[in-house]
Amino acid sequence: MNETTVETLIIGAGMSGLATAAALGRGASLAIIERDGEPGGYCKTVKQDGFVWDYSGHFFHFKHAEIEAWLRERMVGQEIRTVAKKSFIRIGGKLVDFPFQKNIHQLPQADFIDCLHDLYFAKPDPADTSFKGMLYGRFGRGICERFLIPYNEKLYATDLGKLDRDAMGRFFPHADVADIIRNMKQPDNATYNATFTYPRGGAIEYVKALLTEVEPSALKLSEALVKIDLEKKVATTTKGTYRYQRLVSSAPFPTLLELCGRGTPDGYSWNQVQVFNLGFDAKGPRDVHWVYYPERDVPFYRIGFYDNIFDGDRMSLYVEVGLTREGKGAATLEQVIEALRRDGTVTTQKLVSHHSVIMNPAYVHITSDSNAKVSAGRAELAKHGVFSLGRYGGWTYCSIEDNIVEARALVASLKQ
Ligand SMILES: Cc1cc2nc3c(=O)[nH]c(=O)nc-3n(C[C@H](O)[C@H](O)[C@H](O)COP(=O)(O)OP(=O)(O)OC[C@H]3O[C@@H](n4cnc5c(N)ncnc54)[C@H](O)[C@@H]3O)c2cc1C
Repeated sequence: MNETTVETLIIGAGMSGLATAAALGRGASLAIIERDGEPGGYCKTVKQDGFVWDYSGHFFHFKHAEIEAWLRERMVGQEIRTVAKKSFIRIGGKLVDFPFQKNIHQLPQADFIDCLHDLYFAKPDPADTSFKGMLYGRFGRGICERFLIPYNEKLYATDLGKLDRDAMGRFFPHADVADIIRNMKQPDNATYNATFTYPRGGAIEYVKALLTEVEPSALKLSEALVKIDLEKKVATTTKGTYRYQRLVSSAPFPTLLELCGRGTPDGYSWNQVQVFNLGFDAKGPRDVHWVYYPERDVPFYRIGFYDNIFDGDRMSLYVEVGLTREGKGAATLEQVIEALRRDGTVTTQKLVSHHSVIMNPAYVHITSDSNAKVSAGRAELAKHGVFSLGRYGGWTYCSIEDNIVEARALVASLKQ
């Protein structure tokens, strides 16, 4: 067994781990342990039969211009498109603009009146701090039961009454009665992701940009962390041991606790997402980037069209199915294609290439209990020089840009 000594040991070569390494810089004493055979985490890209697919659609919405510029400087020669998003909800056989709550006037008149009536009389219940309670209290039964509840239950694969009211943070498109009425007269469907950017080579191009700032020898692929001795500051992997001064982990937080010998933690729950990437021989619908599906007889909750980003001439889709933590609810390829035929997305096109991946965990179930446990647990580990970060290390809902912001802030605080 090898024994190595480093100042910083990083667990995971996804966006968070690599952004940490890039912020520390090439001269830093560090190693990045990644159990997979390639870097990228959930930001990997699959190239197959001329199609470019990610592990589910990974589009980029930058709030920090300097982060976007920093990445682009390291993506020389890569075509990157900025696209005005076109997204819809398929309901009752028709497409309604997203977000649903701001476009109820596009529903058949009777549905519109129900939604409007219930919206007007919606009343928040201060005693109900759940995500479901927040939805009913703000939007009323009509909007909730047609879209917000069934869609989010398909996605999270759990009872929304168990999730914290802020389970989606800034990613939830809030709107009050005044916004909704205004939108009926003058559409303004802007959400946090009104425009997105995407590189021709797929999401992995952003990973490659981070890798330009990482010493190649620091990246240890196909090597998994199996144990951390917090007192001795020694990490054991499948290939050796590492003495470290500080350890930065982007592994899922409950896994990290187990690796630190804290037993199997309870109170953590999450969903899995089954992703189908589908390539066809001919073009499908145009002028659409993604579609949300609240109806329960459709196995997936969302689909997206890669071919409408770079104007490809063959339909290239990702299809997302929400599964329980145990993996219940999985769809077959045949069921997916059949549902796509029913709604007219697939007509005469032939499927010529496909790929599938399961993201586990995908969306963590954010509850007041998990929030309290994660924040106390992170503070406790930090006392031992172990810092847990990233979407799963922080047990949260966030974007890739958030991962970079968090990693940079951590490195800045460590350098003080
Ligand atoms: C369905 C879905 C769609 C999304 N779409 C978008 C989007 O459009 N835009 C956007 O900005 N964000 C999106 N995200 C979020 C984005 O995927 C994450 O924010 C980001 O990829 C998280 O990066 P990370 O490095 O924190 O975690 P990860 O990508 O999970 O990386 C963690 C790494 O740690 C490794 N690891 C874990 N345990 C060990 C161990 N014991 N030993 C060694 N290595 C280990 C893993 O193999 C992995 O490579 C989406 C997420 C999901 C689930």
